[in-house]
Amino acid sequence: MTDKILSLSKKILPDVVKIRRALHQQPELAFEEVATGKLIASELSRLGIRVQRGIGKTGLAGILNGGGKSGVVGLRADMDALPILEETGLSFASRNKGVMHACGHDSHMAMLLGAAKILSALKDDVPGTVKFIFQPSEEKNPGGAPAMIDDGALEEPSVDAIFGQHITTDLPTGKLGFRAGPLMASADEIYITVLGRGGHGAKPHNAVDPIVISAQLIMELQTVISRMKDPLEPSVLTIGSIHGGTATNIIPDYVKLSGTLRTMNEEWRKKALILIEKTAVQCARGFGGDCKVEVSHGYPVLVNSESETNLAFEAASALFGRNAAKVVQPQMGAEDFAYYLQKVPGSFWWIGAANKAMGATASIHSARFKIDEAAFVYGAAQLASVAIEYLRRKDASGRKSGLRH
Ligand code: ZN
Repeated sequence: MTDKILSLSKKILPDVVKIRRALHQQPELAFEEVATGKLIASELSRLGIRVQRGIGKTGLAGILNGGGKSGVVGLRADMDALPILEETGLSFASRNKGVMHACGHDSHMAMLLGAAKILSALKDDVPGTVKFIFQPSEEKNPGGAPAMIDDGALEEPSVDAIFGQHITTDLPTGKLGFRAGPLMASADEIYITVLGRGGHGAKPHNAVDPIVISAQLIMELQTVISRMKDPLEPSVLTIGSIHGGTATNIIPDYVKLSGTLRTMNEEWRKKALILIEKTAVQCARGFGGDCKVEVSHGYPVLVNSESETNLAFEAASALFGRNAAKVVQPQMGAEDFAYYLQKVPGSFWWIGAANKAMGATASIHSARFKIDEAAFVYGAAQLASVAIEYLRRKDASGRKSGLRH
């Protein structure tokens, strides 16, 4: 079966590239993926796959019923682009000025359609149902995944496990990265207003200086990470913006700070947010000022389940050889695929697409982000193979437990 899947994936590469380039030329921002959805729906319909539209606003799903009835496996791709002015110089660069598929979601959709093509060709060998989930707004809080789940993306038919992938230039083409357990971080936005009392820059004793408080507060907040956290727990707090004051000789009334907290553990995440607020408020009050802390909750920690990750790792090894599949370190980026994994087991992995000779080395979210399209052979085959293998194992375990009754 792996040979069949791989040779089909090689055969359809030109189609996958064509779809990817079409999507790359017409990038759309979060929850605006209308033309994108239309293109996907028409590709799925052409394969005879039933399409459910209007899930999670601009999202959609395709349902392929295979030759057996052993369960339902979900495969997910994200659809949205970023507000970036493309600087790749590619012949198929964005025609929507200021919007760019700089996170590779065009390739995710194309590879998922490639997998749909492979699985359609092998329909009789698919021992269950495959649900192709195309999700909008991965890039923007609160994410498209919760809207998809609320609209029943994991129901009718009810999804037993879900798999997804992300292209990356951190790995060369031909390598895939896997990890069981936490793979990506939670990401919360923190907004702090430091309140002082304005006055003349030459008379600080008559004022409460929120700039000096902010300087102290920024350093003290780092002690939440360095002194209040278990050192074996990965976590980062970055204050990314600070705004205050208007002139050299005026003490302002307030200063605004904002930052991001990343964690790999939901328990520590909750605790850290409390400690951040407490530390900030105590620091400001210690100087006679005050402080308001607001948190905009982002995506949770992405936790891959063990057996589904092993299955995906083994599928890659069987398809592309033992050296292709690698166990990778977690990273502090965030991904709303985490929400699906809170509902059903599954796994999310990296597809390498770096190629120095082609100049495909810039990271995701860069205006010069490029990928080696040869990577699509791996991505499409991997998704198709994981779907069949998951359903096959479910079928086998169902039969086994059936015997016991
Ligand atoms: Zn992305």
